[in-house]
Amino acid sequence: MSGLPVLIAGGGIGGLATAVALARKGIASIALERNPAFDEIGAGIQLGPNALAVLDLIGAGGRVRERLIPVGYLEIRDALEGRRLIRLDLRGAFRERFAAGYGVIHRGDLLKALYETCLASDRILLVPSAEIADWEEHPDGVEARGADGRRWNGRCLIAADGLHSRFRQRIVGDGDPIPSGHATFRCLIPPERMPEHCRVDGAVLWAGPDCHLVHYPLKDREVYNAVITVNDGSTDIARGEPVPDADVRRLFDRVGDQARAFLDAGTGWRRWTLRDREPADTWVKGRAALLGDAAHPMLQYAAQGACTAIEDAAVLADRLADDADPGAALDRYAAERRDRTARVQRLSRWLATEVYHPSAASAKRRDAMLLGLDEERLLDHLTWLYTPFGGTA
Ligand SMILES: Cc1cc2nc3c(=O)[nH]c(=O)nc-3n(C[C@H](O)[C@H](O)[C@H](O)COP(=O)(O)OP(=O)(O)OC[C@H]3O[C@@H](n4cnc5c(N)ncnc54)[C@H](O)[C@@H]3O)c2cc1C
Repeated sequence: MSGLPVLIAGGGIGGLATAVALARKGIASIALERNPAFDEIGAGIQLGPNALAVLDLIGAGGRVRERLIPVGYLEIRDALEGRRLIRLDLRGAFRERFAAGYGVIHRGDLLKALYETCLASDRILLVPSAEIADWEEHPDGVEARGADGRRWNGRCLIAADGLHSRFRQRIVGDGDPIPSGHATFRCLIPPERMPEHCRVDGAVLWAGPDCHLVHYPLKDREVYNAVITVNDGSTDIARGEPVPDADVRRLFDRVGDQARAFLDAGTGWRRWTLRDREPADTWVKGRAALLGDAAHPMLQYAAQGACTAIEDAAVLADRLADDADPGAALDRYAAERRDRTARVQRLSRWLATEVYHPSAASAKRRDAMLLGLDEERLLDHLTWLYTPFGGTA
């Protein structure tokens, strides 16, 4: 096997999880991040049992769990009347089926846990302020070319450069990601501002017509993460620009009093627009492969974008460790991951139209479906999603 390191373009959750998973298999890597620091925006993220189990497997679980909040339940409520439609207890039967559990974490804390795991390994080199512009193959591997003229040699290149991946254009060539027409607003709410009925130990989703609102505790429960989404036809690219509170509230004027009270508690909202893609047939070109959002960007509704990126990292490391030919290993990795991630991409779209955003008669059908699900059947529905790698690796 080539003694060259694996080059990773992008030091987000997917890129750093890849470095950690490779190190666990004895493979050296260089993670090249365009930003001057390995950091994440100030918002929360949910980690399902599939991701937590894989983080344990690759040796980052301990550091993640130190910062994780193991919330007690997931719940969906009707945003108009406030009625509870379904609750999934994340202890008891859930833990019996999915031993790794479920939790929420501040994104900065998740990245920090991965970053510290990288620093603890002498097989990982982290390079900030390194924007990769392109790559070339040579007989021994690949050369990654920095936008500032620097060069790095490796046995292969993993493009973990996110939703707007530039590497995807050379590997898949399917243009820009597809606008969903949805805009998301996020902020953190201190407990003293949060209405009492929302100061709870669960992740609660209020489903309304063409919109939904989510909150859960973060940071030792010292703050609540608020993520609210509206289907307003947005097609621009927004990545966290501040928006006046009054503008946000106006967009959600249709929701009922209970959801409204939590929405009104939020200040300092920032706006993102949401895009995804159709699943691609391949994520590999020679010795370069896509990973995470670059490979299978999905709407956030199944809370699985980062979780599936973490799974990708572990499968990729296994295949590169098994096979002396990096090109063949990358093909096997992509073949193994494609169907599962495509299914999660489709689920994420389905959740928006059928569960989170329906109105009128469709909302009544949704209510009947959710109210009719008992815990056992709900867990059965979730087993493929929350079993690491879908149970196939
Ligand atoms: C509102 C919202 C809520 C979400 N909630 C959840 C959730 O609860 N659970 C969950 O699992 N997922 C969730 N997701 C999805 C999750 O955030 C993403 O799937 C995940 O961050 C993807 O990680 P990534 O490493 O593939 O890409 P990114 O996080 O986008 O990281 C890409 C990195 O590459 C760097 N980069 C880009 N181009 C270059 C280049 N040319 N050279 C070098 N570096 C480069 C970027 O600076 C960045 O650091 C949510 C997403 C949104 C929008």
